[in-house]
Amino acid sequence: MVGIMTSCRYLIIGAGFAGAATAYHLARRGAKDVLLLEQERVAGAHSSGRNASMIRQVVSEPDLLPLTKEGASFLRALPADWPLCVSFEQKGSLLLGSGEGWERLKREALGARQAGIEVEIWPRERARDYAPVLKDADFEGVIWCPTDGVVDIHALLTGYLKSAVSSGVEVRYGCSMREVKVENGRVVGVLTDEGTIRAEVVVNAAGAWAGAVGKMAGAVAAPLRPCRRHLFVTAPLSWVDPNWPFVWDDAHGLYFRPDSGGLLLCPCD
Ligand SMILES: Cc1cc2nc3c(=O)[nH]c(=O)nc-3n(C[C@H](O)[C@H](O)[C@H](O)COP(=O)(O)OP(=O)(O)OC[C@H]3O[C@@H](n4cnc5c(N)ncnc54)[C@H](O)[C@@H]3O)c2cc1C
Repeated sequence: MVGIMTSCRYLIIGAGFAGAATAYHLARRGAKDVLLLEQERVAGAHSSGRNASMIRQVVSEPDLLPLTKEGASFLRALPADWPLCVSFEQKGSLLLGSGEGWERLKREALGARQAGIEVEIWPRERARDYAPVLKDADFEGVIWCPTDGVVDIHALLTGYLKSAVSSGVEVRYGCSMREVKVENGRVVGVLTDEGTIRAEVVVNAAGAWAGAVGKMAGAVAAPLRPCRRHLFVTAPLSWVDPNWPFVWDDAHGLYFRPDSGGLLLCPCD
């Protein structure tokens, strides 16, 4: 145990995108004494390493729009000292809507535009001309966001972690947080399977476990409900154009995009 940090200023639970990006940005702002704990032997073993890699900026929560916009801008121009190449293929997105859902999507698009995100509202015919694969699809209209795209999630996550480590962050894999230590109503550290670690600030970036971690800290339960989501990848299909944008059909709750010569499809939750 000699040399292992038993106290730190910032302790982050979880090395997915939330934890890795928090560690990276803390280190970049000069924070010292940052420890990132990950229960698995590798980073990205859960959602952050197994998602559809789509960068979508039009979202329903207005408060998140500046974040989605800034996130996409960050990917477009990674810092000069970013440690590895991260491909971000900006092929755009088509968000399909019908009925009440279409009215909501249009409101979201206007909110996104106000936040400075480039969006266009297209009638069905224009979307079908742009992506003939939609010719038999059932929708009323489309939100086109040309600056959306698909990112290499593994390179991105690795980049956050490499940068954080080279700025002094310690990442400890295979170390599980078992209990949040609370004294006088304040979080003062955690108990891990390697012992107790005291911390001034504990960041809950535990993904699907975040609700349980919050509860351990005695926090009012956040309305977090983990959902299992499945991705399907087809064999190569001759009619798929690799340059298609990703298509998110809001009315039917599914999305797809070109992948490995075929399609990656997801029926959402
Ligand atoms: C199938 C699927 C497709 C998706 N597609 C997209 C997409 O295209 N675009 C998009 O933006 N989002 C997508 N998402 C959502 C996105 O993947 C997640 O929002 C994101 O990865 C969450 O990151 P996170 O860091 O919060 O959680 P996670 O990646 O789950 O990371 C949390 C980490 O905390 C660790 N941890 C938990 N408890 C403890 C503990 N007690 N001690 C130590 N470590 C702990 C876990 O092991 C895990 O590694 C998708 C999700 C899924 C499941």
